[in-house]
Order: sequence, then structure tokens, then C-alpha cells
Amino acid sequence: MHVMSQAPPHAVSRLRSTRLARSVKPFLARGGPKGERCAGCRLVPSHCICALRPNVPTRAGMCLLMADIEPLKPSNTGWLIADVVADTFAFGWARTEVAPEQRSVLLQNK
Ligand SMILES: [Zn+2]
Repeated sequence: MHVMSQAPPHAVSRLRSTRLARSVKPFLARGGPKGERCAGCRLVPSHCICALRPNVPTRAGMCLLMADIEPLKPSNTGWLIADVVADTFAFGWARTEVAPEQRSVLLQNK
């Protein structure tokens, strides 16, 4: 197992940034706005696990479809997956639309 240090933002982090850019009001996570969080692992700074984060060697790729506000939550399963599986993609889910990048990810493995 390889421990990563300063990794570039992963797919869920990038989806969060995109979603935040569309926000008209701040997202208030459980616990309120007072809590400062690590930008990497989203935990409170005293509990930061960034230095311990493993990179799981796997041939599997992950394609996450996330509800609109899911990437804004400080922690969720998608964050954990993207933290340890390098080949992770994340897209916002919509009932009637498919992002062009999502379609190409799904078709590239046919
Ligand atoms: Zn951290």
C-alpha cells in the first residue's frame, strides 16, 4: 500500500468545486458553519488523515453519480472512494440529462 501526500484534487473534489460555483447560498453541513475542515480529507484539522491516505492498487475504475448536494457534504462514501481509487470519475446525477463526459467514460470501456 502506498501512502499519498499532496494529491491533486480528485473527481469528487472537482465536482464539489463546480457545484459550489453554481451555489447561490452557502451549504451548511451538519454541525453548522463554525467547523473548520481540512480541504483534503474534509475532517476537522485536529483529525486530518491526509498523511495516512492509502492509494489502493486496483484495476477497477469507479464512476460515481451523485445527487445535487452530495458533493457539498463534508464526508460521504464517494469522497472515500475517490480518496483511495485513482481511476474515479464523479458526475452530478440528473433524471433527464447525461453529461457528455459521463457518456464518454461509460462508452470507453465497451
Ligand atoms: Zn486532511
